[in-house]
Amino acid sequence: MSKLKQSSPESPARPFQYTSTNGPLSCGAHSLVDLAGQHQTPLYVYSADQIAERLGLFQQALANRPHLVCYAVKANSALAILKLLADHGAGFDIVSGGELARVQAAAPEAIGRVVFSGAGKSAEEIDQALEAGILAFNVESEAELALLASRAARRKRKARFSLRVNPDVFAETHPYISTGLREHKFGIDIRQARRIYQEAAGNRWLSAHGVSVHIGSQIRSAEPFGAAVTRVARLVRELAKDGIRLKTVDAGGGLGIDYHLELTEGFDAQAKIAEYAAAVEAALAGLDVTLLLEPGRFLVAQAGALLARVLYVKRNGKKTFVVTDAAMNDLIRPALYQAFHQIVPVIPRPGKAVPVDIVGPVCETGDFFAHDRKFQPVQPGDLIAILDAGAYGMAQSSNYNTRPRPAEVLVSGSSARLIRRRETVADLLAPEIV
Ligand SMILES: *Cc1c(COP(=O)(O)O)cnc(C)c1O
Repeated sequence: MSKLKQSSPESPARPFQYTSTNGPLSCGAHSLVDLAGQHQTPLYVYSADQIAERLGLFQQALANRPHLVCYAVKANSALAILKLLADHGAGFDIVSGGELARVQAAAPEAIGRVVFSGAGKSAEEIDQALEAGILAFNVESEAELALLASRAARRKRKARFSLRVNPDVFAETHPYISTGLREHKFGIDIRQARRIYQEAAGNRWLSAHGVSVHIGSQIRSAEPFGAAVTRVARLVRELAKDGIRLKTVDAGGGLGIDYHLELTEGFDAQAKIAEYAAAVEAALAGLDVTLLLEPGRFLVAQAGALLARVLYVKRNGKKTFVVTDAAMNDLIRPALYQAFHQIVPVIPRPGKAVPVDIVGPVCETGDFFAHDRKFQPVQPGDLIAILDAGAYGMAQSSNYNTRPRPAEVLVSGSSARLIRRRETVADLLAPEIV
């Protein structure tokens, strides 16, 4: 990975930067001190410019082939972010009726660019998507295909589908987010796919639109993507011999980022995307299909930070704990995946960095953001920023410990807009009955 390319205002490769050596950390023109003062903490801050830039890089890298980038809504489902991406031409990959409703609320004009993934679609969700007129269902089992056919017949609406095949490709990532092996619950064994397409060809309510594959998340190398799409391309050629001409190949999402990258290091997202697109394109050589991609993390992770305020600094034996007002309910990745996030002070204090644990107030030992991390001195009241938190941060947040979820701010050029107000305890109690 190139460390040479430093970000500049025109190229928001790293959207969070110190305005001077003494800070404060800023997102574009906005000091995080000011944003925290205005909206309190914990607070998610996102750079719209970086999200749009990333989408543009995918679109440019695929310029030589008909394509559609379907943003994986589950990575960050904020309505304002969906709208931003739709305005820049993105489609969407959804995994629930709730996510479909989000796209309908934020960007109804983009419904025709929606693909619906997920191993457990209910009849209601299928009906909702048929009614909305999405682009295609990514079907994960024969039973789901049968249900789709019967729901389509009832509504007298033809359903476009892609089989999500399981290519039996190993991708090195965390075991919870690896999905492309036969032993995983995802997709249809690629060896069964040809027969299923042949059988579906006889059903007037089903239209074989494409084929999809998704091998996992946070995959840093391009090679497994190429291997998976190579297997899919072979299937497309076999089906063509059977007279079944698929229009799309959906290569899924999963391209990973470097969570260890320090703020001062540049990051060449363009080179990373180009390498990935080249691997997929090489596998598709000679095939006349539209390429769909479903990136989530790579579009939004580095665009976001979680701002937190230090509540206490305490020593237990040899250990120093920095207790913040953000907790595992706001960002669960460290607890769930042992994930690493860079954490930086918003206004650095002089002094020697010492190892600390950075933790939240929740009554769980798993409630941590960093263990034994060398950190410059901090005091109660200081602000810290947990970086690369734009993906699977707010989206996986919860109300554990009856903690209202954070507010969210979207920075775009000179504007910084509240896109979700902080929850109140009243919001949390509202659905309950004593
Ligand atoms: C989660 C998921 C994605 C997005 O994965 P990222 O790693 O965030 O890019 C895309 N497609 C499917 C089917 C998924 O389940």
